[in-house]
Order: sequence, then structure tokens, then C-alpha cells
Amino acid sequence: MSNYESMVLKPGKESSLLRFHPWVFSGAVRVLPATVREGDTVRVVSAANEFLGVGHYQIGSITVRIFSFEDKVADQDFWDHKIRKALEVRRIAGSDFDDSHSICRLIHAEGDGLPGLIVDYYNGVAVMQAHSSGMYLARHELAIALRHAMGDRLTAIYDKSEKSVPFKANLSPADGYLFGSATIPHRASEYGLQFNIDWVAGQKTGFFIDQRESRRLLEGYSRGKNVLNMFCYSGGFSAYALRGGANLVHSVDSSVKAVDLTHANMELNFPGDNRHKAFVADAFEFLRDAESMYDLIILDPPAFAKHQEAIPQALKAYKRINARAMQIIKPGGLLFTFSCSQSVPRDKFREAVFSAAAISGRSVRILHQLTQPADHPVSIYHPEGEYLKGLVLYVE
Ligand code: SAH
Repeated sequence: MSNYESMVLKPGKESSLLRFHPWVFSGAVRVLPATVREGDTVRVVSAANEFLGVGHYQIGSITVRIFSFEDKVADQDFWDHKIRKALEVRRIAGSDFDDSHSICRLIHAEGDGLPGLIVDYYNGVAVMQAHSSGMYLARHELAIALRHAMGDRLTAIYDKSEKSVPFKANLSPADGYLFGSATIPHRASEYGLQFNIDWVAGQKTGFFIDQRESRRLLEGYSRGKNVLNMFCYSGGFSAYALRGGANLVHSVDSSVKAVDLTHANMELNFPGDNRHKAFVADAFEFLRDAESMYDLIILDPPAFAKHQEAIPQALKAYKRINARAMQIIKPGGLLFTFSCSQSVPRDKFREAVFSAAAISGRSVRILHQLTQPADHPVSIYHPEGEYLKGLVLYVE
């Protein structure tokens, strides 16, 4: 049994924890241990002093993130076991890495029983991002656990928590290597395509791993098509479209850095290939002015809603952008449309796309319903973890 300080819940507030949901909200807490500090590990018990879970305390509406529903001590062995388990799941799901495929999410927060922690792997380098103070404070043990589990397949571990850790004033996190080092840009491959990854200056940990299977699906639809990749970031979808035999590919992003990354990645895989062009532009303006020349359009915007209050606005934006894409897409065109907003439920996103179809007046069929791949698992007790929603539409 652990001897962490106990946090006592109000009567009746234990039911979600008994169903293994890993969050304790601030309103559920009756007694906060007097000496507890942000990032500390606490033992959560019911009003009747029944053990519920062990987790990290955090100031904010989610007060505790549970990482063990057994009364265990979070020592090195504990983290070792967690990381090994996560790697085993990747191996079983076939989303592990080898020579032609060296990009994978190793740890997906709640989906791997490690709320507040993301670890992505790029050809020998693990990029760690803590979203809670507790995981940030455990970073050295976690780094050791990664090394224990991966041995010499790991040459460096980079911590990129400076912007993701809350209340950073108290912790003063600074991004940097916890082990080894690597040069930027670092090259890694996804299904045989090469990508330059820049975890230091790039968005997230440097790459949007979660769209891997959607990109692969798109490849098979690309032959002879005029493709428009909106919100391209580092050009993932564009590279698959080119390999799939697209007639032309236009990539669009409002960030100059993203468009530079896209250019570099297309040149890396398809040197001198003039089927590709990239534009720095706002997506809404680009689509407003675009001609009806595209057979295949990808809409993969950033999370329009980062919290509950932003949902109505986000749904309007999804509706507007999808309606415009459906208006301009050529007859018989395909629209790959996504939402990565965790707070927008799947049915609401689909409703927004349905309204968009109605506005466009086109006949629209759903061919595929997409989500995140197996290296972004979802705990069945934490449905909020299913954040990525996608539809592939045939627009008559
Ligand atoms: N599809 C990409 C990931 C997209 S991430 C991939 O597979 O890698 C979202 C991107 O949208 C970011 O690169 C961001 O710079 C860009 N973005 C955000 N707002 C935008 C806007 N209004 N117009 C165009 N691009 C925008």
C-alpha cells in the first residue's frame, strides 16, 4: 500500500472513479491534504475511506489525474511497467517501428493509463510532452523507463513541456534533452515516405502522427486527381497524394514555417517534381477565392474548440468551411474532412457537415468514417480520449 497523503471525496462522488474514469473534478473534493502541492502524488479515497486511486494533484478544474486504480507506489518499477505495457500495445497493433516506418506515438495519455503524458517517437528520438505538473516532475523516472524499455533503439529523449505544463511559473520548465541529443531537422519515415521533423520549433512534438492511416487511405484515392490539401502543416497528406499519382497537389497553410516545411518534405521525397505547389494563405480566404478545379480536398483544421464554451463557434466554422469545399469540389469529388477538437462530439461534427452539405445542395455520401490510429488508444472508461473524427465524402 502507498503512504501518499489522502484526498477525501464528498459522499457519492466516487462513482466515476469506481468505473475507472481517471479524472477527479475540484467540486468532488471534501478534504484536500494540508501540505499537498501541485504535482504531488495523492491517494484518493471516498467519504467512507474506501481506496479509489492514486494520481497527480493539479490546481484547476481537474484536480487529480489518476494513473493507478491499485494502491501502488509510483516508483521506477511502476513507470517501467507502464511504459513496457504501452510499447507492447503498439507492437500488437502493428503500429510499432522498423526501418521503413520510424514514427509512432509511444504514450497517449489517458489511453495508456498515463494522464498528462504524451511521448512521440521519431527514428530513435522520443519527444516527451507533460500536460500536468505531476508528469513533469516524474520526467526523469519516465525517461529512465523509456530507456529501460527501448534500450539502444533510443538515442535521445527531448522534453518539450515548456508550453504544455500548467502554472509553469512555479516549475520554470525549460525545453531540452533529458538524454542524448540529435540534430534538427531529424529525418524519420512513415510508410516509406521521409519527413523532416523539428520538435524544437515545430507544432506539437513536430509532426501530426494521428493522421497516418487517413493519409494512407488518401493515397489510394489520388491517382489522376487535382488535390487541395488545406491546413497542410508539414505536408503529410500532400506527400501521400503525390506518391499515389495525383495530377497536381496544392498545399495551403497560414503559417510560413509550415509551408517551408512542406516544400522541404516534398523536395525530400519527390525532388524536382513540379506537380506540387504550396501557398501561405488563410484557409477561409483561399477557399472563398478558389476555382472549381479540385477533385479531392482535405480539410484538417486545428482544434476550432479548445473548451466547451467555444463549441457553438467551432461548429459554425466547420459548417462554413465544409460548405465552401462542397460548393467548389468537382462533380464526383472526394472530401476528406476532419475535426481534432476533443470537446466537439462525433455526432455534432457530423451534423455540422450535414448542414454544410445541405447548404451546398450537392448529393453527398459518406464513404469512410475515420478516427485516430491504434497508437493513440482510447480508454473505454474515458471516451473523451477519442478526439479525432473524420469523414470521407463522395460529392456528386
Ligand atoms: N494536416 C496536417 C496537420 C494540420 S494541423 C498534417 O497531416 O500534418 C493544422 C494546421 O492549420 C497548422 O499547420 C496551422 O498552421 C494551420 N492553420 C491554422 N489556422 C489556419 C487558417 N486560418 N488558415 C490556414 N491554415 C491554418
